[in-house]
Amino acid sequence: MSVKIHPLVDQGVKAGNSGFSGGTLKCKCAKDQVTVNIKSNVAFNHVCGCTRCWKPEGAAFSLVAVVPSEKLSVTANAQKLKIVDSAAAIQRFACTGCGAHMYLRIENKAHPFHGLDFVHPELFDAGGWEAPRFAAFVSSIIESGTKPAEMEGIRKRLKELNLEPYDCLSPALMDILATHTAKAKGMLAA
Ligand SMILES: [Zn+2]
Ligand SMILES: [Zn+2]
Repeated sequence: MSVKIHPLVDQGVKAGNSGFSGGTLKCKCAKDQVTVNIKSNVAFNHVCGCTRCWKPEGAAFSLVAVVPSEKLSVTANAQKLKIVDSAAAIQRFACTGCGAHMYLRIENKAHPFHGLDFVHPELFDAGGWEAPRFAAFVSSIIESGTKPAEMEGIRKRLKELNLEPYDCLSPALMDILATHTAKAKGMLAA
């Protein structure tokens, strides 16, 4: 039995095109699609095992990346978008027609990631976006039904794909979070 991570990485991770400068995210509806214009490449692209991310049927992981909020605009059928859980720190704007999460936004201005939105690059209507580089919240897939005994094989497969497995975010992102907290506490010069 082959280990399934996400359909866009299971055949090998496709390299990005460094000239990719954005495109249109389209939801999965057959008509009246929600479209979101992104005027930049994505950054920190990764596969995520958390239970909240939108993922394709049968996939253990989502594919998710960051873009600056000011580079993102909803260009069609915004009326179909609904926030999945308005009490969550990260607001997930999902299409009420097909369920795809079109973008995730942090409204709290004190949050280290404020000003960044998360998107699912597989919804781009064209390829070339930055390749995924790591796997976040790997242990969390147990919470969505993966058997603990399968974890060793899954981590091995992630390493084969050069998607270094982490059980939180990657060191670079964890450092950004901790630096923000240290500055807020006055431990580091702002
Ligand atoms: Zn839709
Ligand atoms: Zn996630």
